[in-house]
Amino acid sequence: MTNDRIIGIDLGTTNSCVAVMDGNDTVVIPNAEGSRTTPSVVGFSGSGERLVGHVAKRQAVTNPKLTIAAIKRLMGRKADSPEADRQRNTCAYDIEATKNGDAWVRVNDKLMSPPEISAIVLGEMRAVAESYLGESVSRAVVTVPAYFNDAQRQATKDAGLIAGLAVERIINEPTAAALAYGFDNKNDETKRVAVYDLGGGTFDISIMELEEGVFSVKSTAGDTFLGGEDFDYCLIHHLADQFKEETSIDLREDKMALQRLKEAAEKAKHELSSALETEVNLPFIATTEAGPQHLIRTIARDEYEALVEEIIQKTFVPCEQALNDANMTKEQVDEVLLVGGMTRTPLVQSAVADYFGKQPVRGVNPDEVVAVGAAVQGAVLSGQAEEVLLLDVTPLSLGVETGGGVFTPLIERNTTVPTRKREIFTTSIDNQNFVPIHVLQGERQMAEDNTTLGTFELTGIPPAPRGVPQIAVIFDIDSNGIVSVTAKDLGTQREQTIRMTAGSGLSEGDIERIISEAQAQHNKDELLKMLAEARLAAESIIYTTERALEGYGEMIPQEDREIIQDDILALKEAMDGEDAQLITEFTAQLEGSAFRIAETLYANAEDDSEEPV
Ligand code: AMP
Repeated sequence: MTNDRIIGIDLGTTNSCVAVMDGNDTVVIPNAEGSRTTPSVVGFSGSGERLVGHVAKRQAVTNPKLTIAAIKRLMGRKADSPEADRQRNTCAYDIEATKNGDAWVRVNDKLMSPPEISAIVLGEMRAVAESYLGESVSRAVVTVPAYFNDAQRQATKDAGLIAGLAVERIINEPTAAALAYGFDNKNDETKRVAVYDLGGGTFDISIMELEEGVFSVKSTAGDTFLGGEDFDYCLIHHLADQFKEETSIDLREDKMALQRLKEAAEKAKHELSSALETEVNLPFIATTEAGPQHLIRTIARDEYEALVEEIIQKTFVPCEQALNDANMTKEQVDEVLLVGGMTRTPLVQSAVADYFGKQPVRGVNPDEVVAVGAAVQGAVLSGQAEEVLLLDVTPLSLGVETGGGVFTPLIERNTTVPTRKREIFTTSIDNQNFVPIHVLQGERQMAEDNTTLGTFELTGIPPAPRGVPQIAVIFDIDSNGIVSVTAKDLGTQREQTIRMTAGSGLSEGDIERIISEAQAQHNKDELLKMLAEARLAAESIIYTTERALEGYGEMIPQEDREIIQDDILALKEAMDGEDAQLITEFTAQLEGSAFRIAETLYANAEDDSEEPV
């Protein structure tokens, strides 16, 4: 094993996965808990220490404002964008604007950028790989949705840098999936493959051609705001509406209840992929004058399917567009590859089969295939695996603003990358000594409806009548899909190159500062993890015991009630401190005394059945 190894990371909205090439095989690396995927969730304490993965996801219930999930959706977004608004409606943490208007997240008294938070997830994936490989890792291939624009790709690259990983290549998730699939299925004939990728937060469709080691993307389309969470919200609202009808309580107004409902909905969704019905069981979810209320409901698969049918149909709009852009009909697609956890849903599988008129390929693990493809690409880049040629495309047109605020595309969407385009511009008034250039990405007619990648001015143009100066502007999209623009005054040979930094809003100085802060933080984070786990266990036993006391307190002897209340108090006091050991001891003590409630209840229970069953 050499230090040159390049790992592959699928940095997902909901879950992340890391893989590596070992000899001729790809290995998906399990984390310390034994899971092959890790929740892309970062939790913070009041003093700023952080938790990542499963433990952070679990603390969401008790610490929703400082538990940051689905940060990928904010990568390269503005705070006033519809995407940020939607995130505000679905997440409890605060999203605020920086001076540039970028969407950052409030963590205690400071704002953190989405790349900084993603970097914590990437750092965790790096640690998972390092502990498996027993060596340090400093290079990675990271995947992004094909539909990510330049700003979002930049932000992902910056996240890698902050995590101490040189991002050797950013590849599109569906391309990675096809790479993993094609790598396992070497075949001489040309195959046209549609990769249908429905993940936690995004949907992507790519049409590709695989032929003897050449993977060429013909077209790609998608929706960065369509994914598993929409299915969860359908279920959440369905359950909350029914509960409101029965009890007049709106669970959506209670953050804690909503978080429990969210977890239960996702669990039910998973179960309905294999079972025909499932039970949602949330005891003590609310309290009314009539006493504690429980949400206990059975959901049948067809009830769930009726709720989500519409969301699934929405995925076929980008499918239609991708097929059109590739000049292909559904019938010409040879194979359909399913990627993303959501494609485990039977209705998704059957709808895709109906749409393409063929059964999707089986035997590819939809949660892992993207990371595996990234690992294959990593191995190719490090020389560990045979060369494969990836011909990816740019998902969005790149262009400039011209007269009257019109967007003039220079590189059309679905052009193979890397690519370069040169265009000559001139002045529009006499003696104009600078030319402003506004670079945009998108598909809309007017500049203001597209995403600004950057604006710059080419200055120092010598006096001349309008239309005479010749300014060559060169637009480059590299193999990561990242844009750079160079402008050159052909008269003076003056040149200017800009890296588009509109997206992450982080300067190199910011990145260095964040890296050194993170290193200083490392040991504190370990301690926090223990403390957080102890507090979680404590909060959970306090919560259930208090609800049980509310509901059944009067049925148990005064003396027992006092013991339990004393133990709750002692545990709460311990939780105010920072001693994980002490919290664990008091938790055990409360667990012991809380049994008295159940003991009393069952001892008093009247058996109204006539015969033992
Ligand atoms: P990904 O972004 O590919 O990790 O996909 C994650 C999404 O897939 C989340 O919304 C999960 O809830 C969902 N998911 C994972 N497993 C299943 C399953 N067995 N059935 C339905 N959805 C699932």
